[in-house]
Amino acid sequence: MQRYTINDFNRNYPDEDACLERLRNRRYPDGSTCEKCERETKYHRDSGRRSYSCQWCGHHVHPTAGTIFHKSTTSLRLWFYAIYKMASTRCGISAKQLERELGVTYKTAWRMFRQIRKMLTDDDNQRLSGTVEADETYVGGRRRGTNAGVPAKTVTRLPFSGWQSVRGGYPLP
Ligand SMILES: [Zn+2]
Repeated sequence: MQRYTINDFNRNYPDEDACLERLRNRRYPDGSTCEKCERETKYHRDSGRRSYSCQWCGHHVHPTAGTIFHKSTTSLRLWFYAIYKMASTRCGISAKQLERELGVTYKTAWRMFRQIRKMLTDDDNQRLSGTVEADETYVGGRRRGTNAGVPAKTVTRLPFSGWQSVRGGYPLP
């Protein structure tokens, strides 16, 4: 079984834009209906902002709205990395370790730790209770070797997919 490694993480999330794009794709996929003009649309990135615009009416969408990332000055990439670390260790990493690895203050690390842990455990307890595939696919996306549109045999467990489905109306990504 392939593990989801730091190399996979770096490839999937090379920079801030890739992280934001990931959130946007979960929440506002291209081809979805614009909530304002109600046409099928693609979204264009607004330069210098964490938002996108509808290709037709220019309606702005903010993929981080309502998520633990919103209003945080910590970069999305550090957040994603912290999620990756916590998911792959099943929260076996401490806030102190996060502080060291992320190069943030302890206060910031502790706040991130708390929010991520809550998200991961609220999500669906069985996600963290010994599912073998959690390690490799938690932050990963589609498993390698599967075809687009064909679900992999083991369901991909993105924290990002969990955020949207549970707890009535928890804001996507
Ligand atoms: Zn629109």
